[in-house]
Amino acid sequence: MQYNRLVEYHESVQIVKMKHLIGVRALSGLFLMSGCTPNEVSSVKPATSGKRANTAIETSADKFARKPFVYDSSRQYIYISFDDGPQRGTMESYAVCKELGIKATYFIVAVHVKGRRDGRRIVNTIYNNYPGSVTANHSYDHAKGQYDSFYRHPNRALQDFLRAQDTIRPPYKLLRLPGNNAWVLKDTMRASRLVRPVARKLDSAGYNVLGWDAEWHFNHKDARPLQSAEKMAQKIKSLLDSNQTFTRNHLVLLAHDRMFQRSSDLDSLKKMLQILKQNPRYVFETLDHYPGLKW
Ligand SMILES: [Zn+2]
Repeated sequence: MQYNRLVEYHESVQIVKMKHLIGVRALSGLFLMSGCTPNEVSSVKPATSGKRANTAIETSADKFARKPFVYDSSRQYIYISFDDGPQRGTMESYAVCKELGIKATYFIVAVHVKGRRDGRRIVNTIYNNYPGSVTANHSYDHAKGQYDSFYRHPNRALQDFLRAQDTIRPPYKLLRLPGNNAWVLKDTMRASRLVRPVARKLDSAGYNVLGWDAEWHFNHKDARPLQSAEKMAQKIKSLLDSNQTFTRNHLVLLAHDRMFQRSSDLDSLKKMLQILKQNPRYVFETLDHYPGLKW
C-alpha cells in the first residue's frame, strides 16, 4: 500500500510552553527543512484538561514500568523509527537493528496486524523485545490515504486511534499521525491547523504524538530508498550539530519498513546504522525515552 506523505507546514502553528526545551533556532530550522514559512506562529497553551495517562496501558510486565531516565548532556540521542508495519521489510529491519544492538520504535498500522497471517506474531516479537524495541500506534487504517477528510472529522479520527490502540496493544500511549508531522508532548504542541483539533483530543486522552526530524525518503513506486546510507548519516549529524531538531540533541529519524525488503536496501540500512554507531556521542533510544512525554 502506498501512502502519500503530506507534510503540512503551510498553515502550521507553533504552540510552545517549554521554551527551554525547544530553542528558537531549532524551530526555525524545522521550517527551513520543510522549505516553507509558517503563516501563523502563536504561543497558545494546548488543551490540558481531561484525563491524563498514568503509565499508559497497564501491563503486568515490570519491564514496561516507567523509570526515571537521566539524559547525558554530552551525548546526542537518536530515535530510529519505522512506520506502517507490519509489512514486508518489518522483520528484516528489526533483525538488522537487533543484530547491531540498536533500539528502534515501530509505528504500527492496525489493519496490517489483522491483514497478515503473521501480523500478530511480528507485533508480539517487537513488543517482547523491549527495551530493544517498542511498538506504537500509527492509526487503524492510515486514514485510507485520505488525510484531509480524516483530520476534518476529529471525533472520528480519535475513535480510529483508540480502536487501533485496542488492536495493536502497544505498551504506551505513543502515537504518530498518518501523513502528518505533528508533535504533542506534555508541555508542547506543534500541529498544523488541519490536525490541531484531533491533536488536542489526543492530548486530553493522554497520548504523546511524535513527529520526526529527518526522513529517509523512498520511491513511492518501488519503495526503494532514495538517499544513500552515507548521505543519511551525514544528514543526521548535520541536523544534530546545527541544532535543527525539535528538541536539541535529540533526533527522530523516520523510515518505512517496506524500504528494506530487498537485501541490497537492507544492507544500506545496516551501513547507515554502522556509520552512526561509530560516533561515540550517539545514544540510540526508543521513543518512550524522548524528553517531555506525559505519563
Ligand atoms: Zn505512515
